[in-house]
Amino acid sequence: MPRILDTPDALRAMSERWRAAGMSVGLVPTMGALHEGHRSLVTRARAECDRVVASIFVNPTQFSAGEDLSRYPRPIEGDLAMLDAERVDAVFIPAVEAMYPEGARTTVHLQGALAETLEGAHRPGHFDGVATVVTKLLVAARPDRAYFGEKDAQQLAVVRRLARDLDTGVEIVACPLIRDADGLALSSRNAYLSPEDRAEALAIPRGLAAAATLWNQGERSAACLVEAVQTELARSPAIAPDYVAVVDPDSFDAVPQAPRGCRIVVAGRMATARLIDTIRLGCDEVPVVAGPAGAAAERSNPRPGRAEWSPPCSVS
Ligand code: AMP
Repeated sequence: MPRILDTPDALRAMSERWRAAGMSVGLVPTMGALHEGHRSLVTRARAECDRVVASIFVNPTQFSAGEDLSRYPRPIEGDLAMLDAERVDAVFIPAVEAMYPEGARTTVHLQGALAETLEGAHRPGHFDGVATVVTKLLVAARPDRAYFGEKDAQQLAVVRRLARDLDTGVEIVACPLIRDADGLALSSRNAYLSPEDRAEALAIPRGLAAAATLWNQGERSAACLVEAVQTELARSPAIAPDYVAVVDPDSFDAVPQAPRGCRIVVAGRMATARLIDTIRLGCDEVPVVAGPAGAAAERSNPRPGRAEWSPPCSVS
């Protein structure tokens, strides 16, 4: 079993010993309820670093009032078993009071659009909470590298920015988004979905697949790509979209034309969960999504002899 640490001081002492012995340190921050997406971060860290520490902390400051903080899944035994199987050296599992002791006053805030747009706009204060806890983890763990998933693409951009701005010297390593067999992006919050909602939720990766297919066919208009996603979302009335946007992957500014490497980001609310998803155009594979005939994955790989699919876009 990995060593369990429960205070920032203990984490710092452990990391100092490792670094004094000349070993490189990798940090994988998580909120637990681990799945294959998390595992991919740990596997990468294990391959690249001499010592790996994962953190499990459901950070209250990144949840807005009315969000799912109190019901967030916390299957700690299963999480530890996975981290043990992945040969993680230590797991940092602090109590809320250990991270935010009475009297704590300091937060980290990113100015400007990056943290205020999209997720920032729909979850006020979210990125202040993320930036503060990630900074605290970087300060305590002093890793050479910290691993983050592209699933939370805006969070990744925020973390990259703060790691640079605060001269942390930590390399932020981006790991590809991992999907479930049916095409849905893996998320701890998928546990909330009813079977019906889960089937409806596939409209999100289906929308991304439709847009990515259009992009692969040469479409570059952001409005047209957004409309392709929205068309799929509209087929699932159980989803209330928060946003669909084509953005620069670093600034998260909306782009009118979609160059290779830009992102489509999607967020939508369902009765039981709020879901986000993303794809990097021209870089990520077109998601293959289970579902009814005519699903976008089929359209993306038309078999010879099939009628050509006409794009849904009406924007010139
Ligand atoms: P969370 O526990 O949701 O805070 O996520 C911890 C880390 O795992 C973050 O860097 C996430 O971006 C990453 N992550 C979560 N889901 C996935 C996924 N499906 N694929 C890749 N990384 C993921």
